[in-house]
Amino acid sequence: MATFKAIVIEKAETGTKAALADFDEANLMDGDVTVRVEYSTLNYKDGLAVTGKAPVVRRFPMIAGIDFAGTVEASTNPAWKPGDKVILNGWGCGETHLGAFGAKARVKGDWLVPLPASMSTREAMSVGTAGYTAMLAVMALERHGLTPERGPVAVTGAAGGVGSVAVAILSKRGFTVHAVTGRAQEAGYLKGLGAAEIIERQELAGPPKPLAKERWAGAVDVVGSTTLANLLSMTRYGGAVVACGLAGGMDLPTSVAPFILRGVCLYGIDSVMCPIERRREAWKRLETDLDRQKLAAMTREIGLSEILKEAPAILAGQVRGRIVVKIG
Ligand code: NDP
Repeated sequence: MATFKAIVIEKAETGTKAALADFDEANLMDGDVTVRVEYSTLNYKDGLAVTGKAPVVRRFPMIAGIDFAGTVEASTNPAWKPGDKVILNGWGCGETHLGAFGAKARVKGDWLVPLPASMSTREAMSVGTAGYTAMLAVMALERHGLTPERGPVAVTGAAGGVGSVAVAILSKRGFTVHAVTGRAQEAGYLKGLGAAEIIERQELAGPPKPLAKERWAGAVDVVGSTTLANLLSMTRYGGAVVACGLAGGMDLPTSVAPFILRGVCLYGIDSVMCPIERRREAWKRLETDLDRQKLAAMTREIGLSEILKEAPAILAGQVRGRIVVKIG
């Protein structure tokens, strides 16, 4: 019996329980490509899955982990051969399909994108799903026609994973970035990533008005709820807001006023089922539009066994930037 170490989630008497366990390779699910996982990351959704705080996992037992980078070990898919370096984000891994927090993963070859030539597997997972989501958000703002000349762009949850990468990419693209954070102590860190101004999270926490003073040409939001409603009411005429997350809540107490009186657009980002062409484009852009030194500055590495300790911290908004998980 060949086994490997993995973070395995089982059903418990009440809820679920996650533990570091030996997983039998024979129990990997169907797929036409087997990958030796080298790195994964801890994302917000992994925090929800590992702690059981939300019903992210819909199959038991489950290997947690929604993304990985590694090397193809075996493939019957013509697109991939042993030795190829690959990345996977989402597609239900860690939710309905066995995921990334283990040394081996068997998946559909159609889910994989090639590792960008200049990136290591560790760098790719420093980016991870949070960073790839940030890239998708910036691409949405650019498709809208947003340029640096239109005015500053706000990024909420700025000291977190999606936020940190969004700040770094936007500043490299020449935008004036206003980083919205609840952690004043991270002002130096955020300025190092390229933020021009630090905005106290409380400024977007009050009861939203239908329309407020116009402040930003665009915004990347990971918080949702009142914060997103306030952002919409403060977006300049013709601007755009990208909704990526729900760190502050799933509701959206807004009105149609920003849309019909200022022509503001609200775009949604889904990284999980995002079509493969857009993923390839996002990873290609990440190769050039994200400063590697800034990426290194926002990344901390942990081992598989430390995931259980870090999962509650990411849900509590205490993790700065990105956590990369060394697997292989
Ligand atoms: P992180 O925990 O790394 O970052 C979230 C940040 O949001 C925190 O660091 C904190 O930043 C801020 N925050 C946390 N709680 C609150 C609150 N109650 N009110 C206001 N701000 C808060 O998570 P990620 O960056 O990895 O993910 C962020 C969100 O994006 C999550 O909801 C996640 O599910 C979602 N997401 C969605 C994806 C998609 O496909 N749409 C893909 C990836 C993530 P600060 O201290 O700076 O204020």
